[in-house]
Order: sequence, then structure tokens, then C-alpha cells
Amino acid sequence: MKPKVAFFDFTSCEGCQLTVVDSLQTHLDLLDAVEIVQFREAISERGEDYAIAFVEAPISRESDEERLKKIRAQASVLVALGACAHIGGVNAIKNLAPLDDVRKYVYGDKAQWYATYAARPLSAVVQVDAFIPGCPIDREEFIRVVKAALMGKKLPIPDYPMCVECKLKENVCLFHKGGFCLGPVTRAGCGAICPTYSDGCEGCRGAVSNPNVNSMKDVLAEHGLTPDDVLARMTMFGAYEMTKV
Ligand code: SF4
Ligand code: SF4
Ligand code: SF4
Repeated sequence: MKPKVAFFDFTSCEGCQLTVVDSLQTHLDLLDAVEIVQFREAISERGEDYAIAFVEAPISRESDEERLKKIRAQASVLVALGACAHIGGVNAIKNLAPLDDVRKYVYGDKAQWYATYAARPLSAVVQVDAFIPGCPIDREEFIRVVKAALMGKKLPIPDYPMCVECKLKENVCLFHKGGFCLGPVTRAGCGAICPTYSDGCEGCRGAVSNPNVNSMKDVLAEHGLTPDDVLARMTMFGAYEMTKV
């Protein structure tokens, strides 16, 4: 029997789910290996007997918690899909400002109509078994991860810094060009795409599990920068980590 798979989302741009749809178009073999029973962006069926749940988006309001817990209770394996689900992502930028101000800014005089709270990754609410990082996820990495999971293999998510990939591409380091980059502490796997196109990494894949903080400090000191410069750079994707208590 094929494993039954479902996709879910909460508050998000749905770009990671779109990447899944896109990647499946060129990997039809994967569609033969699993049965997708729920995927709002792609099918109209709403099967509830799934074993594997991919969940996109952070949890942004208290009422979302109950739905996520139900998904967790049904799924044998729950996978956080993309930066928002994995580390809070761009939704958590709002955590940096007073919540009432944010609500008024977005909803104006209707602010009281919309419940919200500090955005958080799925792992802050339920146990997460695996994650596929990135904003959005990398289409080929998604396929690799799903295939490895179906074969019972270790998931091929790198746990070394972005600089490794950047050096392999023979890029000139942005710090040597007066730029800034979170590559020394960010999880590799995107092919160092931002530095390759001369844009500093903003850490959408999250930190490696054992970041070499001293090395990062040395790099900063060498270029006249401080840990505060790192924090300023982290706000795009790392605001949850910066503000959690
Ligand atoms: S990780 Fe990026 S692409 Fe995916 S849902 Fe969040 S904002 Fe959208
Ligand atoms: S540009 Fe960024 S990723 Fe590349 S070597 Fe420099 S710090 Fe590392
Ligand atoms: S270089 Fe950094 S910000 Fe750019 S895609 Fe990779 S992890 Fe994300």
C-alpha cells in the first residue's frame, strides 16, 4: 500500500506548496510512490487518513494550535515545510514590534476583528519529525528528502555552513567586498545562491545545529563589524529566535 500524504498550511504565502506542485511536474515517479489524500492547492479531495503531513507556515494565532495538534495526532510523521514552519520565517518579523501596533498597521480600525499572536515555528507547539528549510524550499531538495524518507534513509539536509558551498563555487567572499553575509552560521543546501549573485545570505535556511560563533565573531571583528550587525541581518527570517523568551 502506498503511504498516504497530506499537505496543510496556516498563515503563509504558500510559495513552498507551489514549489512542491512545481517539482512534482518533473518527478511524476514520486506520484506513483505515494497517495496524496489532501493538498488544497492541487486537489479537491480532503482525505483524513494520512500518515505523513507536510505543514507550511508558522503558527500565528492561538486558534491555529488546536488544528495543528489534530494534524500531529493523525500523522506518524510531521514535516515542517519551508522557513516559516521551520524557524518562524518572515511572519515573525511582526514579533519585533508591539503586537497592537502591528495589528493596527495592517488592519486599521478593524484591528480588533483579527486575532493574532507572536508567530512561532511548528516546533514551538508540537513535535516536528523533520524539516525542509528555505524560503521557498528548494524543489530538488524536496524530492531528495521525500525519496530518502520513503526508503527509510537519513534525510539529506546539510548541517554545515553555507560558506562551504560558497567556497566550492569559488566566489569572492562578500566580506572582502565590503558586504555582509550570514553564511558562516547558516545551514548550507541552497548552493549559496545569494552570495553567488552578490547578495549576502539572510539565513532563510536557519542556523547550522552547531554554529561556530567564535569564528563568526572573528570574521566580524576583522571587518569592523559587531554582533549587533548580525542581529540586524537576522531580522528577515530569524526574528522568532531573536525574540523568543
Ligand atoms: S517559507 Fe517563504 S515561500 Fe515558504 S511559505 Fe514562508 S514566506 Fe512563503
Ligand atoms: S560570501 Fe558569505 S557564504 Fe560566501 S564565503 Fe563569504 S561569508 Fe561565506
Ligand atoms: S544564501 Fe542564505 S538567504 Fe539565500 S537562499 Fe541560501 S540560505 Fe537563503
